[in-house]
Amino acid sequence: MLLEVRDLHVEFRTRDGVAKAVNGVSYGVDAGETLAVLGESGSGKSVTAQAVMGILDIPPGRITGGEVLFKGRDLLKLKEDERRKVRGAEMAMIFQDALSSLNPVISVGDQLAEMFTVHRGMSRKDGRARAVELMDRVRIPAARERVRQYPHQFSGGMRQRIMIAMALALEPALIIADEPTTALDVTVQAQVMELLAELQRELHMGLILITHDLGVVADVADRIAVMYAGRIVESAPVHDIYKAPAHPYTRGLLDSIPRLDLKGQELYAIKGLPPSLLNIPPGCAFHPRCPLARDVCRTDEPPLYEVSRTRGSACHFWRECLHG
Ligand code: SF4
Ligand code: MG
Repeated sequence: MLLEVRDLHVEFRTRDGVAKAVNGVSYGVDAGETLAVLGESGSGKSVTAQAVMGILDIPPGRITGGEVLFKGRDLLKLKEDERRKVRGAEMAMIFQDALSSLNPVISVGDQLAEMFTVHRGMSRKDGRARAVELMDRVRIPAARERVRQYPHQFSGGMRQRIMIAMALALEPALIIADEPTTALDVTVQAQVMELLAELQRELHMGLILITHDLGVVADVADRIAVMYAGRIVESAPVHDIYKAPAHPYTRGLLDSIPRLDLKGQELYAIKGLPPSLLNIPPGCAFHPRCPLARDVCRTDEPPLYEVSRTRGSACHFWRECLHG
């Protein structure tokens, strides 16, 4: 396994108490594999990724338990300077908002070239040449001319391609993309996602794709881990999930994907809101919103039941959900 997160716990101290953002998350991704981590905002998906990357700082979060094994080494045990090396060269992250991740006053070519001059000790000229290659690779038209332009001169989709190019520059083994297409319109979303998937296959990288939108990952993910209130509630190969979800929350997410064949019909939405992480409901955290909830759900926290060798569900009634 390229990356294996084991029983990770993260807390945030807030004025109102301790927010339990991640409560025992385990997941893994192999080289050449794409794991989609799915959930509403506040489910802990981004915080988990930040803990993996070692960039968990604002607001002050604390890892209170677990392991993050990368190529067999526990990253949580590394010193900050060793950690920084791994983060620079072996794993990279792509964020939703390219405009705030790129430096507005440095040309995109220089920002890309810097990856090579700083991390690989290349000359400025060679760095520039690699920048053009990368821009070609992420299919930015007229790369040779546009390499001199600044971030604001690119469209949202093109800027996201530049972010992908930055992430790929040092050929990391793992890329974590946090809502990489959320800020883009639907057609551009699909193009950027396709590009990312294609490069991931070509370079045989591990890819963790964080999203709130089950619709965008269908074609690119191998596995899906669904998060709710800081836990994984279902984990399965993507085709299993689409065939029949084994958790009512996954079913709710599936039912809320807009479908072309049902145009005009009102879109299904899971009732209620995700819980406050300061006050996670007892038993199954999903029970206040769950159409299948009954007494035991309010008192007994479901473990991740083994549905099959490759699939888990944290629902006492997963059989009912699967066959219902
Ligand atoms: Fe719903 Fe109960 Fe299953 Fe939780 S354990 S998802 S409340 S049926
Ligand atoms: Mg997020």
